[in-house]
Amino acid sequence: MSSKVPPIILNNGVEMPQLGFGVWQVPDGEAEQAVATALEAGYRSIDTAAIYGNEEGTGRAIAGSGVPREELFVTTKLWNSDQGYDATLRAFDVSLEKLGLEYLDLYLIHWPTPARDLYVDSYKAFEKLYADGRVRAVGVSNFLTEHLERLIAETSVVPAVDQIELHPHLQQNAAREFLAGQGIATEAWSPLGQGKGLLEVPAIVAIARKHDRTPAQVVLRWHVQLGNVVIPKSVTPSRIRENIEVFDFSLDTEDLAAISALDEDRRLGSHPAHFNGG
Ligand code: NAD
Repeated sequence: MSSKVPPIILNNGVEMPQLGFGVWQVPDGEAEQAVATALEAGYRSIDTAAIYGNEEGTGRAIAGSGVPREELFVTTKLWNSDQGYDATLRAFDVSLEKLGLEYLDLYLIHWPTPARDLYVDSYKAFEKLYADGRVRAVGVSNFLTEHLERLIAETSVVPAVDQIELHPHLQQNAAREFLAGQGIATEAWSPLGQGKGLLEVPAIVAIARKHDRTPAQVVLRWHVQLGNVVIPKSVTPSRIRENIEVFDFSLDTEDLAAISALDEDRRLGSHPAHFNGG
């Protein structure tokens, strides 16, 4: 089955599906089934991380899917305690082994953890992995403007992606503008606001009724029209299928304005300037 999802073109020419499947908080034993369901539904991009503990289950689903490797786009992330040049190279090998893959499509530094002061060294290891052809694109996650400015000044490959918390209650307009200006794709984590409350907001429910869609589809469509890459998560087969069906309708300017008005600058996760855990 070919993908229903159009690609975006990253700054090195690599194509990345604009919508993928996120597996945070999916236990390894359930990841195989969830990822298999997603691949059957037409997803071709999978977003995991070393810290999620489900790279093996994700890899089993990929191996069993029958989808040709070149049609897939697999992302994983370097965990905080593995930062540093040599540790990063070792962590990459472990992730690739767990996933059962020969190469990765996108490798991200999970958090800058500024107190460690190792993200530049870690990224230099990413540049080596990229130069060696072991990963098709390299990027970051949870990087603020200040972290990216330093990274760009001290390294030679501009990150392809910054994966940041972004949903209608945290719209990140300044960050999106900065990233666009640098040619870095904005990827939205927790695109549905983790489902909590956001999908019951009256303005979103009203737009969903108007288009005969679900609130989750409206929120995902909003991301797509903004140009964000999105990676919604679900373990429920009907929702997994629902979340990819967002390329056959459009929100109008009135809908987009109503969702813009929901920005509250409200984070669900940690603030990248202060999170140094792991
Ligand atoms: P999300 O915004 O995708 O919300 C997922 C939750 O929303 C589900 O658990 C379910 O409760 C609900 N949901 C999903 N589809 C629904 C539907 N159709 N109808 C009703 N409810 C629905 O949250 P997330 O998992 O936090 O984020 C998505 C992905 O982003 C993660 O799986 C992970 O891959 C990535 N992520 C990355 C970071 C990071 O630091 N880089 C942090 C968090 C998440």
